[in-house]
Amino acid sequence: MADTADIVVVGGGVHGASTAWHLAKRGAGKIVLIEKDGIASGASGWSSAIVRMHYTLESLVKVTMYGREMYGNWSDIVGVGESGFRKTGFLVLFPEAELEHGHEVVKMQQRLGIDAQYISVDEVGEIEPRLVRDDVAAGAWEPESGHADGSTVANSFIAAARELGVDVRVGPEVLGVTSEGSKVTGVETSEGVISADTVIVEAGFRTSALLVPHGIELPITPVRHAIAVVERTPDFGDIHPVVSDRVARAYYRPERGTLALLGEHDPMRGPIDEEVEATKPPILDEEVSLMERFAHRFPGQEMASKMQGYTGVYDCSPDFQPAFGRVQALDGLFVGAGFSGHGFKLSPGIGKIMSDLVVDGSTDMIDVRPFRIERFAEDDLLLGGEGYANRSLA
Ligand SMILES: Cc1cc2nc3c(=O)[nH]c(=O)nc-3n(C[C@H](O)[C@H](O)[C@H](O)COP(=O)(O)OP(=O)(O)OC[C@H]3O[C@@H](n4cnc5c(N)ncnc54)[C@H](O)[C@@H]3O)c2cc1C
Repeated sequence: MADTADIVVVGGGVHGASTAWHLAKRGAGKIVLIEKDGIASGASGWSSAIVRMHYTLESLVKVTMYGREMYGNWSDIVGVGESGFRKTGFLVLFPEAELEHGHEVVKMQQRLGIDAQYISVDEVGEIEPRLVRDDVAAGAWEPESGHADGSTVANSFIAAARELGVDVRVGPEVLGVTSEGSKVTGVETSEGVISADTVIVEAGFRTSALLVPHGIELPITPVRHAIAVVERTPDFGDIHPVVSDRVARAYYRPERGTLALLGEHDPMRGPIDEEVEATKPPILDEEVSLMERFAHRFPGQEMASKMQGYTGVYDCSPDFQPAFGRVQALDGLFVGAGFSGHGFKLSPGIGKIMSDLVVDGSTDMIDVRPFRIERFAEDDLLLGGEGYANRSLA
């Protein structure tokens, strides 16, 4: 019997899972999701899963607002599983050079109704007195932000999608997107062909290779990032908020119990590595550097013990912003990739947008045109303004 679907979603990370669930909620028809390795086996499973709304681009702030609402009210909205959301607050530390831009971002967030504050160094000290502040020029504070869990979110979206009838297949690999003339006809997998009028590729770094045979360009650089997990010293006290240290270019996120998770700010800092599926040993130099930065910011934490180190791969686009939506060259083809190390918090909102675009042909959440995949070939990159606009915050 012919294997057919209305929609095929390629990839079982947070983006594929969110899109499939949102489509099923809309009653979009017969949906098949294909994941070659395991749900959340890619970047989603390694994600630090920081949930903040501090973005240069107003459109992405709106996408994060949708995500923050969903993560904080998972059982009411999704109803199955959990997001692992923990409201720790999100504190940004600015160097002098970024003050103006940081202030502009906070003003824009306030205009959109977000509880965000631009704060003095003294106020930073009131929120987190343990921080060294003599090299900090000012801060931004989002009390409603925090972090969630990438694996839990992807698996919960998948479980909820299955309950709504999505056919989730783990194991087959999508070998190609098939087409006739300028129209998508389905996918060829390692277990046979599936016919479908709509194919959505959300396969992380592997997205590009599925587009190449159709002459579609999506330049993605896979950059392997180190994460260090340390146990804070027993005298540290209560957990700290998620800290985005823009002075030292690192982030510090509380992990369960007495652990802290340390990561790098610069999306391009790390080896380029196309073996994205491989689990590789920690990058020791990077971990030592992250631990030094954490100890500089939190005095006494040079005595923190290292518990674990691991790596995960960012799918970096040329402007460090995602490409999503309809692909002009092939009717029925949609993509969502190039999230450049900041796609976790965006995944609920992008899933909603993708479902709107597939079902209605448009979305009222944001103007999606600036995020079109064609911008790379057109050299119309999304730099989003001054300051740290073209660099993600992770
Ligand atoms: C170390 C690290 C820390 C991060 N921290 C944060 C953070 O704090 N906050 C934040 O917002 N973001 C963060 N990110 C980024 C975020 O995790 C990613 O942007 C997001 O998880 C990407 O999800 P995805 O679904 O697009 O990709 P992935 O999770 O990579 O999923 C793609 C899936 O597609 C499958 N696949 C690929 N090719 C095929 C094929 N041909 N056939 C079938 N299946 C296929 C893969 O097996 C994979 O499971 C971090 C990322 C990393 C690596």
